[in-house]
Amino acid sequence: MTNTNCLENIVCPHCGHTDSFIIEVKTHADVTDEGAVTFGPMHWDEWSLIQCKHCDTAGTVAEFTREPQQHKPSHRPYSVLLLYPDTGDGLETYYAHTEAENPDAAIANARTEAQAVNPGMEAGDFLPLIVLPGHIEAELFYRDIAPW
Ligand SMILES: [Zn+2]
Repeated sequence: MTNTNCLENIVCPHCGHTDSFIIEVKTHADVTDEGAVTFGPMHWDEWSLIQCKHCDTAGTVAEFTREPQQHKPSHRPYSVLLLYPDTGDGLETYYAHTEAENPDAAIANARTEAQAVNPGMEAGDFLPLIVLPGHIEAELFYRDIAPW
């Protein structure tokens, strides 16, 4: 059974149990010398201690929280190298990290970003030179790609 209310996304990371847990809560108590009676709302957060009632595995609520499955298309990291539009100033490149569904979308992202930081230039005028999977740190020197 998937929890959708108090225990939304909470699952034991050890046994997969989802039904019941012991959670350390903050609440109020009417305390006298004889003892304490709790009252009022209870609160817990991702740092609260939690224990599985099935296998006794303990941890924090954050450790017991499973991210909801998302059905949006997965975005993968890309590194994109663009050539500036020909401005007569030689060859200059724009290098960007982005997340996109595919290399074409990564180029579109990088072009949009390049246009944003270069007012007056058209995104489509930046020519893609290379698209690499992953975020790759690069140290580019203009002399490396300029003609000798
Ligand atoms: Zn368990």
